[in-house]
Amino acid sequence: MAIEWAVFASYGQFVAPTDLVAFFESPHVVFQAAGEGGDRFGSLAVFVLSTGAAWLLPHEVQPLRWWRAVLASLVLIATVAAGASWWRASPSLGHSQPAFACALAGLMRQATVRANGGGRIAVPSVPMPTDGAPSAPLPNIVLVLGESLVASHLSLYGYDRPTTPRLQALADRGELVTFVDAAVMGPHTRTSLPYIMTGLSGPDPGGRVLLAPTVTQYAKARGYHTAFISAQEESWGDLDSLLREGTDTFRTGIEFAPHVDVLKGADDLVVLEEGVLPAIRSLAEPFFLVVHMDGSHMPYRQHSPPSHKVFAEDGVNSIGAYDNTIRVTDEFVARLFDALRARDPEAWLFFTSDHGQPLGEGGAFFNHGYQTNVVKDPLLAFPPPSGNRAMWTALAGAQVSACDLTPTILHLMQTAPLPEAPTDCVDWLAGPPGPRHRVVSAYTPTYVTEPTMLLLLPDGRRAVYDLSRNTVTLDDGAVRPMSEHPLPPELAAKLVITNR
Ligand SMILES: [Zn+2]
Repeated sequence: MAIEWAVFASYGQFVAPTDLVAFFESPHVVFQAAGEGGDRFGSLAVFVLSTGAAWLLPHEVQPLRWWRAVLASLVLIATVAAGASWWRASPSLGHSQPAFACALAGLMRQATVRANGGGRIAVPSVPMPTDGAPSAPLPNIVLVLGESLVASHLSLYGYDRPTTPRLQALADRGELVTFVDAAVMGPHTRTSLPYIMTGLSGPDPGGRVLLAPTVTQYAKARGYHTAFISAQEESWGDLDSLLREGTDTFRTGIEFAPHVDVLKGADDLVVLEEGVLPAIRSLAEPFFLVVHMDGSHMPYRQHSPPSHKVFAEDGVNSIGAYDNTIRVTDEFVARLFDALRARDPEAWLFFTSDHGQPLGEGGAFFNHGYQTNVVKDPLLAFPPPSGNRAMWTALAGAQVSACDLTPTILHLMQTAPLPEAPTDCVDWLAGPPGPRHRVVSAYTPTYVTEPTMLLLLPDGRRAVYDLSRNTVTLDDGAVRPMSEHPLPPELAAKLVITNR
């Protein structure tokens, strides 16, 4: 009762089976998040009441017969085994023995998926033209991956508080394009980032994302100098194995702050000063730099220094504390932009968040579910003066997804996805995307493989699918059988796991 109450207070829904998987994956992180996010007095009150209710149970002790002991042991072993087979924990974050054992099981599962498909597809290097035809120089490109950023809380997106004054000034000067109808890939870092980096989209129960080349691999094969610099600890759930692919330089939060964890990485502005800006000044050209921020992760209060606390904070995870974190992102991206333009006026910069936060939408907080604040992506492009800015401005209202960044960046790099590894997403430079189906899904092997997804329909309506119950919830809030509103055939086909 106490746990259900605490979860409902934070997430607006009761515990689901996948929450138990998340708990087994890293109990430390879940307890820490509950401590930061929960209402401690309320939780204590419910705990006392529910413990008190235990007195209602029969007081007669029953002898533990051998067959009961065997049955209980079997149930315990089966529970741990079931948890382990879903597991993607990192031994560096959960030091307990079971966490380590289950991390091994998770890695074995990942290896099995890779073995069936022959490993992540290698990208052959692209030879430079030898026929004497002068090709356009390859542009320098920076991709910034934000964290837990909610579009509706950016003044750039019409929020009434001045949360993004520096980005607004760049927008006023025509330096950036604000995509007003962009979608994230998944509701968590681990269901989103791998899909942005591979240009794939869910649902993906079979793990195509574990085989597809990343945008960094393509850049490397094209002759780019590649770097990944992060404020986060990336090893949770083996995320670093994907992000590291194709990089010449790979730096994570641990290099900038010794005690980073899943909830709080290194300070973004420290990483900017000590990692990102020096890289922008020194990388050999052409370069492709991916930057992963710690951004607006909960606990919000810890994600802005005193110098950036311009709005009153009424609690660790209050709206004021959240809005202050956006001031950090605002400064981070604007200063990165200035340094990039100083190095190379013709460089490209892109910014996307991984997912948002409900911030009270539907009574929920923290990322769990498909609320508009979670799935609407504050997606920004900073085309250089020679980059056909009129075309980019015309794109601003198009239906786009964060995973479109990979095919679009590949186009800028004058390369394309391999025929054997097609992307699901759209190259904006091949023409503005028309009305389309877009998917936001947690049904991916990179986290707890929760069988849910949101389908954004071409006409703007939303359909949330529960693929374990075969139900769909449309905008009217009514739950219907999936047979009344089936998935488009190309998405239904993705649910069939083929054993290659
Ligand atoms: Zn995230």
